[in-house]
Amino acid sequence: MTHHSDYDVLAAAKNWRTMMPELEKITDIQQIFGVDTFSLDQMREKLSKPVWKSLQATIERGLALDPNVADIAALAMKEWALSKGATHYTHWFQPLTGTTAEKHESFVTPNAGGGAIAEFSGKDLIQGEPDASSFPSGGLRATFEARGYTAWDPTSPAFIVKHSNGATLFIPTAFASWTGDALDYKTPLLRSIEALNKQAMRALQLFGVQTNKVGSTVGAEQEYFLIDEEFFFRRPDLVMSGRTLFGARPPRGQELEDHYFGSIPDRVLSFMTAVETELYRLGVPIKTRHNEVAPAQYELAPIFENSNIAADHQQVVMQVLKNTARRFGLVCLLHEKPFAGVNGSGKHVNWSMSTDTGLNLLEPGDTPHANMQFLFFCTAVIKAVDTYADLLRMSVASAANDHRLGANEAPPAIMSIFLGDQLADVFEQLEKGALRKSKSGGLLGLGTNVLPHLPRHAGDRNRTSPFAFTGNKFEFRAVGSSQSVSFPITVLNTIVAQSINEMTNALQARLKKKESLETALKIILTDTIKKHKRVVFNGDGYEDKWKKEAQKRGLPNRRTSLEAIEQLIQKQHIKVFADHAVLSEREVEARHEIALDQYFKTINIEAETTEWIACTIILPAAHQYIGELAAIAENLAETGIQSKALLRSLQDIVTKTDDLSENLEILKKANRDLGGDTIHSKAYHMRDTVVPAMNKVRAAADELERIIPDKLWSMPTYREMLFVK
Ligand code: ADP
Ligand code: MG
Repeated sequence: MTHHSDYDVLAAAKNWRTMMPELEKITDIQQIFGVDTFSLDQMREKLSKPVWKSLQATIERGLALDPNVADIAALAMKEWALSKGATHYTHWFQPLTGTTAEKHESFVTPNAGGGAIAEFSGKDLIQGEPDASSFPSGGLRATFEARGYTAWDPTSPAFIVKHSNGATLFIPTAFASWTGDALDYKTPLLRSIEALNKQAMRALQLFGVQTNKVGSTVGAEQEYFLIDEEFFFRRPDLVMSGRTLFGARPPRGQELEDHYFGSIPDRVLSFMTAVETELYRLGVPIKTRHNEVAPAQYELAPIFENSNIAADHQQVVMQVLKNTARRFGLVCLLHEKPFAGVNGSGKHVNWSMSTDTGLNLLEPGDTPHANMQFLFFCTAVIKAVDTYADLLRMSVASAANDHRLGANEAPPAIMSIFLGDQLADVFEQLEKGALRKSKSGGLLGLGTNVLPHLPRHAGDRNRTSPFAFTGNKFEFRAVGSSQSVSFPITVLNTIVAQSINEMTNALQARLKKKESLETALKIILTDTIKKHKRVVFNGDGYEDKWKKEAQKRGLPNRRTSLEAIEQLIQKQHIKVFADHAVLSEREVEARHEIALDQYFKTINIEAETTEWIACTIILPAAHQYIGELAAIAENLAETGIQSKALLRSLQDIVTKTDDLSENLEILKKANRDLGGDTIHSKAYHMRDTVVPAMNKVRAAADELERIIPDKLWSMPTYREMLFVK
């Protein structure tokens, strides 16, 4: 085992046993599921019938909230929270940083007599007023107009977050400026759910389906890395930027393919169990856990839920992963690419549409009637992804995700749809209008009696597609592991709402002319598929061949996030958000600005950290080694003995150190110059000048790591971080 000057690898491997936390052993998930959330059931128990009915109308049908009801709900919520040991409450919101924000208020208010009473009114529940000036607004709010409001989202249950020394009531809220502009990710998500509801209901009416509400459903699979905290805190790059900015590749990475689905180490399994227990208590229905492809990489996935709750729960999942890891002496890395040379982490967002009675609109089903519907909605998704490929690409753009998308491991930056052989065949038939003759029995009421029985899960799996049909849902795989899923879902909801809108309009127009539903549908679906089939690709998305083919088909390939971010303000994007009242033009422009700013800041921090580490850790180690070798050489020279090995080592380290030093000077210069005054020029300066300079410094430093003695190398290496468990 390696002996570094500053830390003990063996201790890192062993220590956790002595620090294993006392764990709650779960034997009955049902008994603990949701106990730390103020669920609808609990709310119903505590409220009178009329109050409950009124609140239910808000929650289930999106009707405006009655203020009197809020007072009563607040009282019930407070009593419940106090009984759970909560001393504080917080409006919990999702600012445009992509993380969550909380400002805790005590339930207890001192009164004039010197005592204190627990207070929490309907107004406290409904509205909060955090200082908005410290959150990005992209120009929507000047700092002198710092007012921002949080507003209770009664459709997502409040929950209790415990810490070692108490507990806090978390109330999911939306966040807006005093001008009414959305400053968060929740507000547009809620608006997009309404847009989808409106359009899907219109379509369903034509199909004769009675339902109260349609929404999108989401199940997000989360990938993450776990490393010993001893290693983490000795890596300034991980601490500052969430990823390693240096690190020579170990002799073994993931070549052996022995980690994926491999047996899970005890410490990690204990950690996962603790995470699940915590999440069950919070009502998050975690279902699967397993090793991922890279060493030290894992995944967990919940059962799908309505997309607003799924998005909130996804934030909770990330928080619980991070907090729980520390109890096991581990650190959870959610970054898209913490380690070069091994797989990065994504978040597969499984998405579908469903009625409030649980009818999945993307379920192929086996009755012709349902199939007709299925083909309609599935076609709407295909049309949406083709028309708004740039918007989807933008929704996953970040400096961190640039290490995955388009690199040779993750879905490419070209947005395309994988349908699987069977479904692709059905759509080909549809396109040719030859369903009648299909050997699988024809389609819907469009030809013969029965649609080919589509498998719930497409027979083959294709991991290279950014957007794959997987049985009865689509899986958007380009989403980054650390990002909020809200915006990608918002985009999906909005663009599919738009497709459904157009297709429903066309259908209505034909029905007016007394065409039968079957005839009208057949024409519309065939037309739509013809127009948009270019986005369907069932081959290997990693191959260079596909890039050329995609270009021929006219599909955009926004290789870097900056290019993708620029697309947000395209006219048709501003229009689709405005038409469905999801984001105003101002709100879109603000998000564009914030995305550029975040890109700039991320790289700027990485570049300065790179410079710092190179100057204060790596160069000094190299100089020390040079000094040691030179001293030995001098001693040897006195004895008259010649050592070729010594001279070779000395020459090697000197050459490589010079190389690092030269590249470091270039990086320093790039870091001093910010590339101009506008956020636009700064962002491009980062991409075009700073990133290449950083990469060169890293390459030179990684060469040094291979020859400098372990005892002089104070940062934990890849082989330690990835393989010591
Ligand atoms: P796979 O193994 O093909 O990825 P799983 O059945 O394991 O499929 O599901 C992966 C994720 O997709 C889970 O989070 C699951 O709950 C979610 N999912 C399944 N059905 C739907 C649906 N109708 N809408 C949204 N997500 C879904
Ligand atoms: Mg999956």
